[in-house]
Amino acid sequence: EAKSAGRGHFRFYYTELSVRNRHKLTLKNNLHRAVDANAFDAWYQPIIDIRTGKVVYVEALMRLIHPDGTVTTPGHFLQTLEETGLISRSGQMMLEQACSTLASWRTLFPELRLSLNLSVNQLWQADLIDQLEQMLAQHHLPASALMLEVTEGSMMTDIVKTEQFLEALHGRGFEIAIDDFGTGYSSLSRLRSLPVNKLKVDKSFMDGIPRDRKSMEMVRAILQMATSLDLEVVAEGIETEDQLQVLAEADCHFGQGFLFARPMSSEDLLTYLSLPGKEQTTPYRPMA
Ligand code: C2E
Ligand code: MG
Ligand code: MG
Ligand code: MG
Repeated sequence: EAKSAGRGHFRFYYTELSVRNRHKLTLKNNLHRAVDANAFDAWYQPIIDIRTGKVVYVEALMRLIHPDGTVTTPGHFLQTLEETGLISRSGQMMLEQACSTLASWRTLFPELRLSLNLSVNQLWQADLIDQLEQMLAQHHLPASALMLEVTEGSMMTDIVKTEQFLEALHGRGFEIAIDDFGTGYSSLSRLRSLPVNKLKVDKSFMDGIPRDRKSMEMVRAILQMATSLDLEVVAEGIETEDQLQVLAEADCHFGQGFLFARPMSSEDLLTYLSLPGKEQTTPYRPMA
């Protein structure tokens, strides 16, 4: 009785594994095909200046568009992109798409800036700065139009190396943001030595606001620390008016989340920016 249950259990486990392996293989094949077919799309989510309610940055977020039109988010494929090394080509596609889109938006909204996610593998690419500067030149964009986000957790995989690459980028005028801040166990002394402009406080802190006293105190402490280090804070994952109110009262600089807008296609983002009061500057209107 016990023996057959054991064998049954083993068989179940074995089948699960092979299903997972087959799934992974299919995913890898799909991603290779997607890179060849240029099937990655940049979607955009606004980052709002909490004091004025205007859009200052848009964050580019990678999407995989399937032949049937369905859309997949990075949680399903980013790790495999990294493992297969396909992240460098797909990342380059994101960079090209996002810079060309930003340049076209800036004809209407000249001060709009772009925030781009980089994995450490991208950050450590020897030719990253060349790629970035080539894009800027091609689209007549200043380096200050670009903010580069690296997650706190990934920075810690080799802090010395990360610091060198960030120094180089910062020296060329790119803004640097630490993404998912508060989840990566970085020490404050390390943080002080990094050339960083912004902290993006992870959504997990928002989830406790306003009910959980500890989350509230953590966010306030992060804001105080950031201010004393001359860093600006972006609160990620704001979903409710209550959360926004708490952040506004704590003088949080920037906010991002479903309360303002979900990530959307470039066409939809242009419509969003054109809503009254959303754009950062008065749009340029050619005279009739
Ligand atoms: P992230 O950079 O921290 O981006 C924020 C994620 O939270 C996005 O998920 C966004 O859609 C989601 N989000 C924003 N506001 C809210 C909210 O109010 N509620 C909830 N529940 N979620 C919200 P997404 O687009 O699935 O991206 C996941 C992660 O994938 C990103 O996290 C980023 O680390 C990574 N990623 C995205 N695009 C790229 C890329 O082009 N290159 C690299 N290397 N990584 C990327
Ligand atoms: Mg990000
Ligand atoms: Mg984040
Ligand atoms: Mg994240």
